[in-house]
Amino acid sequence: MVDVKIDYRRNIMEKEVYSLCFMCSIRCPIKVQVKDGQVTWIEGNPHVAGMEGSLCPRGAAGPSLLYDDQRLQSPLIRTGKRGEGKFRKATWDEALDMVGEKLTAVLKEHGGQSVVLGERTQLATHVSKTFLKAIGSPNHFTHDALCKGSVNTACRSLFGYTDGQMGIDYKNTKNIILYGRNIFESISVKEVNNLMVAMEHGAKMTYIDPRVTVTATKAHRYWMIRPGTDLALNYALINVILNERLYDAAYVEKWVLGLRELQDFINPYTPEWAEQETGIAAEAIIELAREVSKSKPSVVFHFGYRGASHQNEIYLRRSILMLNALMGSIESKGGFFFKKGPGEEGGKPARKLTEQKFPKIDVPRFDKVGTPDFPLPDPNHGVGQMLPHAILNQDPYPIKAFIAYRFDPIMSIPDASLTKKALDELDLIVAIDINYSDIAWYADVVLPESTYLERTDCIQQANGLKPQMFLRRQAVAPRYDTRDGALILKQIADRIGTGKYFPFESMDELVAWQLEGTGFKIEDFDTKGFVAYGQKQILWNRTEGIKFKTPSGKIEFKSSLLEEAGFESFPAYQPVAKPNSDRFRLVVGRIALHTHVSTQNNPYLNELCSENVLWINKNRAAELGIDNGDPVEVASSVGKGQITVKATDMIHPETVFMLHGFGHEADNASRSCRKGVSDAVLQENLTDQIGGSPALHDTFVTVTPV
Ligand code: SF4
Repeated sequence: MVDVKIDYRRNIMEKEVYSLCFMCSIRCPIKVQVKDGQVTWIEGNPHVAGMEGSLCPRGAAGPSLLYDDQRLQSPLIRTGKRGEGKFRKATWDEALDMVGEKLTAVLKEHGGQSVVLGERTQLATHVSKTFLKAIGSPNHFTHDALCKGSVNTACRSLFGYTDGQMGIDYKNTKNIILYGRNIFESISVKEVNNLMVAMEHGAKMTYIDPRVTVTATKAHRYWMIRPGTDLALNYALINVILNERLYDAAYVEKWVLGLRELQDFINPYTPEWAEQETGIAAEAIIELAREVSKSKPSVVFHFGYRGASHQNEIYLRRSILMLNALMGSIESKGGFFFKKGPGEEGGKPARKLTEQKFPKIDVPRFDKVGTPDFPLPDPNHGVGQMLPHAILNQDPYPIKAFIAYRFDPIMSIPDASLTKKALDELDLIVAIDINYSDIAWYADVVLPESTYLERTDCIQQANGLKPQMFLRRQAVAPRYDTRDGALILKQIADRIGTGKYFPFESMDELVAWQLEGTGFKIEDFDTKGFVAYGQKQILWNRTEGIKFKTPSGKIEFKSSLLEEAGFESFPAYQPVAKPNSDRFRLVVGRIALHTHVSTQNNPYLNELCSENVLWINKNRAAELGIDNGDPVEVASSVGKGQITVKATDMIHPETVFMLHGFGHEADNASRSCRKGVSDAVLQENLTDQIGGSPALHDTFVTVTPV
């Protein structure tokens, strides 16, 4: 907290608070202005490079979340049927006691593993994990798995690091290639600002997507690729780069394992072959390979996040990462870097509650991650979309309770009707949430969390080129009868006999405990909102000093991780199935105005974008007798809905597109209720069985006039 000003004559107190935004998971550093207990302004933290005062539209709509009277205001206990929306208000003691009693009964009868907690990755994730470890449950998962599980696995297969342990030096890049990474609409503020600086300095951008997005309109080169064929494009790029020796030979010689195997594998995948598959001219593919190689190593083939999302996604992500390795862009200025932790500066990270000793857990996870059935996804995030299967089949064992911590399985896991069927089998559903999400609407007990402006949170350990720590600070008192999420979990733990693992009574106490031994105190965050372990940027020596964490210490094109688990490093290309002439591939994505499924009811953001529409190619629409603005039924093998059409030539004829996150069902969130269609209603629950991502683009739909 800084700069408190008091106007005694008017009895007004003004203050500025450095904190972290939480309108999405990026956690941009912010400065919040407060006047007489009210938030009057939020801007990007001016002391943080890349922020310099700016916010995205969702960040700017933070006050609109705070002052929204349609958010959860007190604990609720369900009185009607699940999903009926009948609740009664409860006191905190009443609601927590009920959760405690029901959980105790479940634990006694079915054991700790029968409890699953799913959440949006957040600063208090170590508290959630502690909650489960204390009761002997391995069953924690985050939404990360649903977004980028296969990116994570691909990174580990090549470098031994997760994608979260890698960063991109946008500001210094000279050439960036984006596969459906709609960077100017699916926004991280620093990334956008830094990329714009690079483009002002002459960086080139190529954007590849079956749909023309805002990012496409800013690119130097846009390719409307045939949906599902990004992997074919990459194999052709690799083919040209190897055959014309456009790669960084010294870097590859030193750091890459498996170049010869890649060379043997890639020969059939010529640009001419890829032209047939992708619809992109062979000469254009050759031109891109030559152009990019001139900028090496300051090159980014972006590894995330949408692109072609299919059951073989692991190999698409690996091909993207291999292109970077061939350019020598891993641990390079203007390319990728490994995030450096406090240890690089002789410092210590903030403590986590998970460091404590817990009872041994010897049962597999509900999703079987880490077992021979599903060996490779990251157990730190799990594979959330396996939850309905695990519940309905009691495979690997009965699951009886689910805690949804600001994560909505009904709108996030493909095949919503299957998810609901599974939820109906549970003895207890608890929702810790800010809004009337669909899962809160479905839950037995709803525990309302304070917004990010009303609470202090756990420390953010921000590893990167310069290791730092950030802190989310309470700016104003809670407006309603809400509590901090970490305290809610502690108060449940107190009721089920595991309170000893939560040695704090307030968030300030927890933060002070986390900072013990780091050499920093809470007050150190007052001046700028963060503390830094050192002053200079750390890049390892590219000739000798890159610390890859693979068994070979190299970038493993030939991957020991994959091969020891029984998977090939270089499987032959298999085209993904093509939709029949009466069907379309359903593709989903984002807009700058909304975050996943959580902001559609925000008063400001809803006013700007209140429902999704179905993008369809103009000619295909005409063949079906559909005009722009017509209502249509869109249907898949698992669900259907009614939606308005946007007929346009800005989308490939084989595909239709809709924004993710619309079609809410909670009546009390009246602005977003029943506006548009939820993609989760339509998508089949299919998974990349190696990488762990859901195959979000493997569903075909019909479109029918109504
Ligand atoms: S990208 Fe926008 S919504 Fe997300 S944390 Fe940053 S300002 Fe907030």
